[in-house]
Amino acid sequence: MIPPKFDYHAPKSVAEAVALLGSLGSEAKLLAGGHSLLPMMKLRFAQPAHLVDLNGIADLRGICLDGDTVVIGAMTVENDLIASDLLRERVPLLGEAARLIADPQVRNRGTIGGDIAHGDPGNDHPALSLVLDAQFVLQGPNGRRTVAANGFFLGTYMTQLEESEVMVAIRVPSFAKGTGWAYEKLKRKTGDWATAGCAVVLRQSGGVVTHIRIGLTNLAQTALRAEEAEQCLLNQPFNEAAVKRAVAAAMAITDPAEDLRGDPEYKRAMAGVMVQRALNNAWARSA
Ligand SMILES: Cc1cc2nc3c(=O)[nH]c(=O)nc-3n(C[C@H](O)[C@H](O)[C@H](O)COP(=O)(O)OP(=O)(O)OC[C@H]3O[C@@H](n4cnc5c(N)ncnc54)[C@H](O)[C@@H]3O)c2cc1C
Repeated sequence: MIPPKFDYHAPKSVAEAVALLGSLGSEAKLLAGGHSLLPMMKLRFAQPAHLVDLNGIADLRGICLDGDTVVIGAMTVENDLIASDLLRERVPLLGEAARLIADPQVRNRGTIGGDIAHGDPGNDHPALSLVLDAQFVLQGPNGRRTVAANGFFLGTYMTQLEESEVMVAIRVPSFAKGTGWAYEKLKRKTGDWATAGCAVVLRQSGGVVTHIRIGLTNLAQTALRAEEAEQCLLNQPFNEAAVKRAVAAAMAITDPAEDLRGDPEYKRAMAGVMVQRALNNAWARSA
């Protein structure tokens, strides 16, 4: 299927991209890896008159350290996350989870910034960014602002990004020593979006949970942070009863849509299984 006609723009800097968005207005869309946008254009769900391609802006791709924070350029592709020694050392959850995203071809073009900016609750990076306490650096006509992942996702395909803004980077605090992590994703086959997914980051001291984040993928209109479930475990000894309470609390906030992956009842039940597995696996990795 061929997408509708559009004009193509290839800025060489973020400032130029922001200026183009300002002058072209709501008729323009940013193009990153194109693995969400182009299928939507082919299906006529999106019909931008202008595409502003970010691929020529070298500054937007790469992973570096700023103090104790890992800074990932928005145009960094999934395969770069998987290959990064820095991420393996500082935030191992990201490269590990990226292996579960789509297939090798998509991971070669699909970017972390596009995955987040798209606002698709089926994408994996939104829930991952919630459990990582990530912050997003956005550049618009009035300069840069930094917003927390928690609160960024407003609805399906809706985020705090303004039409005139470019996501520049994702900032992720390095894991403290002893952090446990897991991403559990149920999918029908390799390359599929999650039927249900759960990301967990936790720390413990002497068998008691001292830090916990639980994020859910494709179980509501946005990625969810399961804060009540977190409270069932925080400052508690980690045991079967506490996990059971957390699983029930996480399942209670899900509101999955019926689709070819299953009906809401099935998806909610699978959410419970993913949460239980992710909690136990993250716990086993914590020290
Ligand atoms: C077969 C297939 C399977 C897939 N499976 C999964 C999966 O399992 N999990 C998953 O998470 N994803 C999956 N995806 C989606 C894939 O990861 C996409 O690459 C991702 O959703 C979008 O990233 P992109 O770089 O391709 O962005 P694009 O498609 O280029 O852009 C997506 C949207 O984000 C906006 N945008 C992009 N970059 C920026 C930026 N820097 N600042 C502001 N706005 C921006 C664009 O304007 C557009 O609206 C799959 C895709 C395919 C084709």
